[in-house]
Amino acid sequence: MEQRPFSDTSYNQFLNEEKLMGSRCKGCGATYVPPRPLCVKCYKSDLDWVEMKGTGKLAAFTCITIAPPFMIAQGYSRKNPYYSGVVELDEGGRVDARIEGMDTAHPENIKVGMPMKVKFLHREGAEVPETYLAFEPA
Ligand SMILES: [Zn+2]
Repeated sequence: MEQRPFSDTSYNQFLNEEKLMGSRCKGCGATYVPPRPLCVKCYKSDLDWVEMKGTGKLAAFTCITIAPPFMIAQGYSRKNPYYSGVVELDEGGRVDARIEGMDTAHPENIKVGMPMKVKFLHREGAEVPETYLAFEPA
């Protein structure tokens, strides 16, 4: 399998390759996304990389109207806000992600528990490849 270290750098490299990867404890089966090098349930450091299917349910969300500078450059503003959320993956583990494909003018349509699927957003014009994890309704 992959020999990359269980780090944020490896996690981001996998996102650039359109893979949502976590680590799974060989001892107790606990799954961590982003990956951890040490299992916090049984304290073993014997883990494997595991690729997530990229499906889950929306656990929480918020609508962001004050965007960071790179998002403002992409056209987001008070008049064009975006959703950010937490998705609980089918394999276990929760990830922070952008939530795409939902109309911010109609927040009544976005619901906790909605089935979601992964979407990889590649940053345009970046000097080094950079990918944002996003989810959209499944
Ligand atoms: Zn464990």
